[in-house]
Amino acid sequence: MKNRLLVANRGEIAVRIIRAAKELGIETVAVYSKADAKSLHVKIADQAVCIGENDSADSYLNMNRVLSAAISTGCNAIHPGYGFLAENAEFVEMVESCQIKFVGPSSQAIAQIGDKSAARTLAKGHNVPTIEGSDGVVETVEEGLKVAKKIGYPVMIKASSGGGGRGISIVRSDTEFKNAFSRTAMEAVANFGDGALYIEKFIESPRHVEIQIIGDEAGNYVHLFERDCSLQRKNQKMIEESPSPVLNELLRRRMGMAALKLAKAINYVNAGTVEFLVDAKLNFYFIEMNTRIQVEHPVTEMITGVDLVKEQIRVAYGNTLSFKQRDLKMNGHAIECRINAEQPLKNFMPSPGEIKNVLFPGGLGVRVDTHIYPGYSIPPFYDSMIAKLIVHAPTRLEAIKKMRVALEQFVVEGIETNIEYQYLIMYNPEFIKGNYDTGFIQRFHKLVEESNNE
Ligand code: ADP
Ligand code: ADP
Ligand code: MG
Repeated sequence: MKNRLLVANRGEIAVRIIRAAKELGIETVAVYSKADAKSLHVKIADQAVCIGENDSADSYLNMNRVLSAAISTGCNAIHPGYGFLAENAEFVEMVESCQIKFVGPSSQAIAQIGDKSAARTLAKGHNVPTIEGSDGVVETVEEGLKVAKKIGYPVMIKASSGGGGRGISIVRSDTEFKNAFSRTAMEAVANFGDGALYIEKFIESPRHVEIQIIGDEAGNYVHLFERDCSLQRKNQKMIEESPSPVLNELLRRRMGMAALKLAKAINYVNAGTVEFLVDAKLNFYFIEMNTRIQVEHPVTEMITGVDLVKEQIRVAYGNTLSFKQRDLKMNGHAIECRINAEQPLKNFMPSPGEIKNVLFPGGLGVRVDTHIYPGYSIPPFYDSMIAKLIVHAPTRLEAIKKMRVALEQFVVEGIETNIEYQYLIMYNPEFIKGNYDTGFIQRFHKLVEESNNE
């Protein structure tokens, strides 16, 4: 029987997965909402199935429709990409019970570590440092106030099921805490269908450094070093790079070992990312594990030469990893800029619409992962990310210079983008020094706004 893979996603990641599957000689089936009928992933897949309306709740998030599409087209595997159903243990259980391979960890592993509060407890139990905070979920405001008092303000109230930077509030007093608690719970219910909250001490000016791992069914595990994702807006990543400008070899090894310890503890199979915050004294703390491929995975691919998506698919079909830890070396420096259809100076308002023309940058060490093309219309219903621009060069400074040229030559007409904004960051002296933390964009944005008002 021929292997056939259903790609349960849209946009650039669906295109990325279809390309990887084709290289492996695996047939592909795309699913799409009505709004995505003309999307690139639909055109390049071997088959495509419309699974419903524009609203993702009626299409990409509809478990029965996605699963029916897989069964009716005879798929023996499903790749979820990121977002949508990627970390939904219930969906994965349904996939498993239909004897379809899920390109990701088991539903059991997702249930164990996908819940952020449970993951903290698990990490603590394995002596992986976590941030001071509540023991598990906090049920009431009173209980929360007690925790806050004990650890001291500022604290963060975080949704156990949160993701994509949503369901997180920072509070600096009892009054703020009382207001934010129910608001965050409601936001979490609305976004993730679960209002469970936990509390963490707010780390001042941390860096976000995460470790990419992958494991196979035979129990082989490797980590593929780190990505520094500290350049964030509203707790959402904007630029990522590897190596991290702050990690030394010892810290890299310690964080890599901590990440693998957690993965092994739950018999984790397939690719995953263990996220940490690193403070000014270079202490690291576990924050969460993402049980899926991440947006920023190309950064790791560029410096290691490993095709993570192909490896994910290989592993899901029962193959052992095609490399060992000792085969992996960090080669040069890679940076990724997320290109969004948005207006940075109008509070990053999304800018959907028709792309009249587009010209992609190119050359040695320049990669564009995207689903856009001339005449493509960006629907207003989904994420505003339209492309990822990744560069790879021998040194960080050369990578920055390459990124500047690539951004300069990236032309998108008809809609607004953040290309110019990203370009400005590439000239910021603190960024160039590698001297930044998760508060960088907020400070940078003030400067941009001021100079714009002059
Ligand atoms: P998500 O599930 O939305 O990705 P995370 O828990 O990974 O949420 O946190 C997202 C971002 O929020 C982090 O990268 C970091 O910038 C910020 N953050 C999260 N927890 C803390 C904390 N305790 N202190 C300071 N910043 C935090
Ligand atoms: P990454 O760490 O891969 O960059 P992000 O946190 O930026 O991940 O999220 C990637 C995508 O997945 C975004 O479109 C985000 O909105 C979505 N996402 C992440 N976590 C969740 C979740 N728990 N529920 C729904 N969507 C999510
Ligand atoms: Mg995260």
